[in-house]
Amino acid sequence: MKKQKLVFATNNPHKLNEISNIEDLNVEIVSLKDIGFNEEIPEDFDTLQENALQKARIIHEKAGLDCFADDTGLEIDALDGKPGVYSARYAGEPSNPEENIKKVLAELSGKTNRKARFRTVIALILDGQELFFEGIVEGEILTEKNGADGFGYDPIFRPTGYSESFAEMSLEMKNKISHRARAMKQLVNYLLGD
Ligand code: IMP
Repeated sequence: MKKQKLVFATNNPHKLNEISNIEDLNVEIVSLKDIGFNEEIPEDFDTLQENALQKARIIHEKAGLDCFADDTGLEIDALDGKPGVYSARYAGEPSNPEENIKKVLAELSGKTNRKARFRTVIALILDGQELFFEGIVEGEILTEKNGADGFGYDPIFRPTGYSESFAEMSLEMKNKISHRARAMKQLVNYLLGD
């Protein structure tokens, strides 16, 4: 059976790699690059939902294709949910993962409550409908970086029930439990009519 094609409104190679590694995905994901879309997409809202929808709407309006977009935040309880929707540029512009990690570790210095979660919201535009899917992974912020794989805050995030950080895990393992994989599964289940 020919796979359904959907634009994923991203050019982030990590995300595309993660998505293409999800097993049993019955849709063919194409990137912005694949459809020749090179414009910068703004993320200027204060919620993951609004940012994801804005990205999806821009692609839908400009490229005329069904698509989905995601927005993710790391919510740290001891920091009142920060960096949250501001995760990418927490330490300022331009986005710098090393500096973001340093800032989070400094702000959590001496704090015992290290509970945190990654939350991904996906906005899908399909056949004129706008829909949302969410994926969450609970965990804790480590006191120092562990592991070299992954991206963003992966080296300092350890999911609950695991002994490794996201950056120490194989992509296959991260894909079983990650926020984005969980949100994607919701999306895929919807597409499959489950
Ligand atoms: P985005 O909205 O998906 O671009 O994510 C915003 C920011 O959250 C990224 O720039 C990363 O800093 C962080 N982030 C998103 N997903 C992940 C992940 O899977 N691991 C670690 N950090 C992530």
